[in-house]
Amino acid sequence: MKAIRGATTLAADTPDEVRAGVKELLTAIKTKNNLHSEEIVCILLSSTADIKSLYPAKAAREAGFSDCALYSSLEPDIDGSLALCVRVMVLAETDRPVKYVYLRGARSLRKDLSEVINIALDGPAGSGKSTVSKLVAKKLDILSLDTGAMYRAAALKCLKSGVDYAEKSQVERVIDHIDLKVEYRDGRQLTLLDGEDVSGQIRTPQISMLASYVSAYPSVRMKMVELQRKIASEVSCILDGRDIGTNVLPACPFKFFLTATPEIRAKRRYNEDRLKGSAQSYESILKDINERDEQDRNRAVAPLRCAADAVVIDTSEMTAEEVAQTICEKIQEKI
Ligand code: C5P
Repeated sequence: MKAIRGATTLAADTPDEVRAGVKELLTAIKTKNNLHSEEIVCILLSSTADIKSLYPAKAAREAGFSDCALYSSLEPDIDGSLALCVRVMVLAETDRPVKYVYLRGARSLRKDLSEVINIALDGPAGSGKSTVSKLVAKKLDILSLDTGAMYRAAALKCLKSGVDYAEKSQVERVIDHIDLKVEYRDGRQLTLLDGEDVSGQIRTPQISMLASYVSAYPSVRMKMVELQRKIASEVSCILDGRDIGTNVLPACPFKFFLTATPEIRAKRRYNEDRLKGSAQSYESILKDINERDEQDRNRAVAPLRCAADAVVIDTSEMTAEEVAQTICEKIQEKI
């Protein structure tokens, strides 16, 4: 008999969150340890005092862990303990070595066991990458790194410096000295250029086209890729871009490539932009998207390509939530 430990944290004290968190934790313990249901003898759960909406044992039964004994208890309210935390001990009839599983915020409890995980999410403009990336990041409690924002900031830097984009050496000189940082506030990515938050300024049609232009220069890409790899090596994150699976993190175990027809992608951008008060017409957005696709696919260095080992998801008929759910399920299957 072996005892397998694990823990996770919840985003809120709601019955649905308890169900989702307990299901994710027990499923991860089962799959990582290759356990059959009949090998599980009993599951002992405990929850911090701030979880009041549902017994974790009930959530476990509802998730299908009903052939074994289930028990849950309430932990004392201890100052400084992790909030909204569910801990578990699974007793299993097995001789195999076991793996403990600490998820979401509970990774901090066992830093010795936690590994940094990276997810590569590539695709053309408007395929839904950034929305889906944020949803997946939230579900897995990891960061979402929008790499396009970095190329956009590089383009803004060139614009502000008044360089001639067609002159490689001028662009290189500016990018060589770029002071670009990515920070997170309340889980939201901020792009800082020369210490200034430019997250809003980089979202214009002009910057979209310029980013596509300057991102074709190898020296610009080298600089951005270096920063992306550094962030990815330090924290668990999902990176969305054009070349993450093929170039930035070629050994990444989780790669996804989103597609959708140009018309649907343009329609999405049009609807998004209208909410922000932009006056760009659908036709002009469609033209920009086609032009950007063409540029991104045909540049010599790290063009937009689907990695051979990426899971392709056609998002044309799917909501962002459905795409995010599909990605999380595929990751769960592989763990
Ligand atoms: O994703 P987003 O539309 O913000 O990206 C802006 C531009 O930055 C893209 O059109 C592409 O040329 C470039 N880019 C890139 N590689 C990435 C991310 C974005 O070349 N990983």
